[in-house]
Amino acid sequence: MTHDPDQNPPQQTEAPWTTRRLLGWITEYVGSKGIESPRLVAEMLLAHVIGCERMRLYMEVDRPASPLELMALRELVARAAKHEPVQYLVGHAWFFGREFQIDKRVLIPRPCTETLVEHVLQHRRAAPGHANPIIADIGTGSGCIAISLALHIAHAKVIATDESPAALDLARVNAQRHHVADQIEFRLGRDLQPFTGGSPRAEIDVICSNPPYICDAEWAEVESNVRDFEPMAALRGGADGLDVIRVLIAEAGRLLRPGGQLVVEIAHSQREAVLELVAKADLLSNPIVLKDHEDFWRVLIADRPQP
Ligand code: GLN
Repeated sequence: MTHDPDQNPPQQTEAPWTTRRLLGWITEYVGSKGIESPRLVAEMLLAHVIGCERMRLYMEVDRPASPLELMALRELVARAAKHEPVQYLVGHAWFFGREFQIDKRVLIPRPCTETLVEHVLQHRRAAPGHANPIIADIGTGSGCIAISLALHIAHAKVIATDESPAALDLARVNAQRHHVADQIEFRLGRDLQPFTGGSPRAEIDVICSNPPYICDAEWAEVESNVRDFEPMAALRGGADGLDVIRVLIAEAGRLLRPGGQLVVEIAHSQREAVLELVAKADLLSNPIVLKDHEDFWRVLIADRPQP
């Protein structure tokens, strides 16, 4: 039996709405609306409303929900059925093994962005250089990249930037939650502008970024849960998707110290274009593009060579 939350809300008539029954109902209902991973969505929403871990649901499958819980759930399920991302509904998302607070002010952290973090960590291990690296994260959003790097590179100083003051507020909350607020400096501004005032020194070890990079042609294909709910400024990168990437490639070289590296997430379709852009850039060399775990071209790497 399918219960449409708009017409047929679960009420405590007949049998009580236990965890088992609710999971079945939500899974079936959001699944019928074309939502991906409906079981996972059901578990996340129910665990959120009850205030427990997902695993806990399966330890108490016969637990009856209270009328208040049912009311809250009804609203969330209706929103999920309209394709609002479940991470916004529950207010958090997982990235690099940790939970980040998120809301509509920021992009939802993606698993493919973990490839960028993995690379920066490997690069630091392979080339220890000096012990207190300076790392810049351009367009930090929720702060997921900056915070993951600060957590894994003990003596790094991370400078996290964003053009959105609201995003920086949330990134600060996440930095405090993960106890790395003293390692991260937050700066407001777009692209590399937070670094280019005065006479900038070439002292940054790694400039990394997951910039907006969706081009107009691909925007038309983007799923509605992304297109209608996530901040457009965090996603779209102009007609060819390269507006921000072009600036990063053109300007990062003179901010990086010799031996430093630019590490930028890109779209699968942009591999050739970004390799060409680096070939034309004065202070960058050795460009390569790494694949993510789903086998898509995902991370551009380019070095500022030693003199
Ligand atoms: N750095 C954040 C992330 O990777 C936000 C990126 C963005 O807003 N484009 O999720």
